Amino acid sequence: MDMLPSQSDPQTSTLSSASPDKIYDVVIVGAGPVGLATAVGLRQRGIENILVIDQTRAFRQVGQVFDLLPNGLKALKYLDSQAYEKIKETNHKSLNLQQSDGEKTNSKSPAWLYKNFQGQVIRSVPVDYDSWFQDYGEGRVPIAWYNMQTTLRNLLPEHQVKANHRCINVVDEPENSCVRIDCLSDTNIEANPYAYWIEQPQNSDINPQNQQAKSIRAKLIVGADGINSTVRKALYTDSLARPEYSGYAAIGCGEILEIPTELQTELEEKFFQDASRLTVTNNHISTDAAGMDEPRIILVRRVEGELGYLIHLALPMDSLQGQSGSSLVDLAVQELEKAGFPHVIKELVRISNPSKMQQRLYYIHRINIVDKGDGVKKQPTWSGGRVVLVGDAAHGMPPFMGQGTNQGLEDALAVVTLITKIAENNHWDDILAIATAFEKYESLRRPLMAYIQQLTLKQYPHSSAKDWQEYGQQVYDRNFDPVLGILV
Ligand SMILES: Cc1cc2nc3c(=O)[nH]c(=O)nc-3n(C[C@H](O)[C@H](O)[C@H](O)COP(=O)(O)OP(=O)(O)OC[C@H]3O[C@@H](n4cnc5c(N)ncnc54)[C@H](O)[C@@H]3O)c2cc1C
Repeated sequence: MDMLPSQSDPQTSTLSSASPDKIYDVVIVGAGPVGLATAVGLRQRGIENILVIDQTRAFRQVGQVFDLLPNGLKALKYLDSQAYEKIKETNHKSLNLQQSDGEKTNSKSPAWLYKNFQGQVIRSVPVDYDSWFQDYGEGRVPIAWYNMQTTLRNLLPEHQVKANHRCINVVDEPENSCVRIDCLSDTNIEANPYAYWIEQPQNSDINPQNQQAKSIRAKLIVGADGINSTVRKALYTDSLARPEYSGYAAIGCGEILEIPTELQTELEEKFFQDASRLTVTNNHISTDAAGMDEPRIILVRRVEGELGYLIHLALPMDSLQGQSGSSLVDLAVQELEKAGFPHVIKELVRISNPSKMQQRLYYIHRINIVDKGDGVKKQPTWSGGRVVLVGDAAHGMPPFMGQGTNQGLEDALAVVTLITKIAENNHWDDILAIATAFEKYESLRRPLMAYIQQLTLKQYPHSSAKDWQEYGQQVYDRNFDPVLGILV
């Protein structure tokens, strides 16, 4: 394990001399779903001397909708039952709102269908809460990232969640028995190509003279700052600190209007039928590496006559470099052509509105890394001294299994349980007890994460029904163990 630097970075050298006027028990870097769930869980257990910081200049509507699945919901329920209830309530409210706005929902077709090139159903995954509840003892709740952030944030006192604090460095201060976090406020935001919402720099109203540097000290730091984690960069000094391109990307178009009637009818009859969204993929069902490079397309119908799509595909990183508008349309058509997609789907993609084209590279922070030079397997650890990583900071990955937030909530439950023991035993200054707790966290969580990442990269949803059932048992069907304080 690389040590945290104990010398200050020249950029922040003026900060290190400040004497510690306040030391928090826990500072959480990152007010995403995992950081906030950690904070809510700690407070629920009586650990109140905490602070959450986030780099965003102000909390605002970013991110997209993801699914909370049985394992994530169970973890949230044991972190804080009020948070669990509020999240379900938020989801009900936004569903009702969509319905009263006349937006087409899945109510007509409460299953996500996977179809082959001939339009035959090869898998049907229920999307309603009750079907999942019946199978796994907990449901499925779609929620927008921002709604989840807001709901959890509202459960914390306002002064404990601070925006406009960008962590730029984490430094061990053994002389003060704590770790120091150096932050900048009112600074230019760096564009973050790794985050899925692509951070929009909000720099226009910034006066560099107002830029403020600040240090915050804590007994423990939880790094919940996402896939491009700064806390992780302080833990690892080597190339593992940065997220790696996963080999997979997405090309999408948000809106295709004026679709010729003939094309529309063929798409409707062969693929959509009653559904508002579905996945079309090759018939080939495989659990081995051969199946993993097959592109697949998610077709979406928002309102009558308006379609969109998202293609997930394996691509070398540089083939997307500089591609936008019509060159991106051409690339998408070419990839579908290579994979043998039916004419009707290629035609839909070909008439995409170039101004609505988007592309996204998916990054990963791997659980297991095989060094290309010496072939040695490395397992980058998730902690060092008083610092521990959770969520995407520890194991960010492409979204194919819908497990990013769900696994992050499981991390939060494990870390909260172990930090609570540290607090109960007043072990805040017992470095050995802290190291043992964080090692335990990793030993509990790493095997499942290795399994999930491996399946994510195989694009497992397209494997056989038997494997899918086994996956469900291993991931969704676990229950809370009150002794370990995690799902097993
Ligand atoms: C298309 C897509 C679909 C997805 N679908 C699903 C799904 O169905 N189910 C699921 O479980 N997951 C899904 N995911 C993954 C999920 O969105 C992430 O795993 C999840 O958001 C990770 O949560 P987090 O709190 O660890 O990190 P993030 O959500 O990335 O939050 C990190 C926070 O840290 C802040 N931050 C970053 N750097 C700093 C810094 N230096 N200082 C201070 N603050 C900082 C950021 O502003 C942000 O608020 C999907 C992802 C994508 C891209």
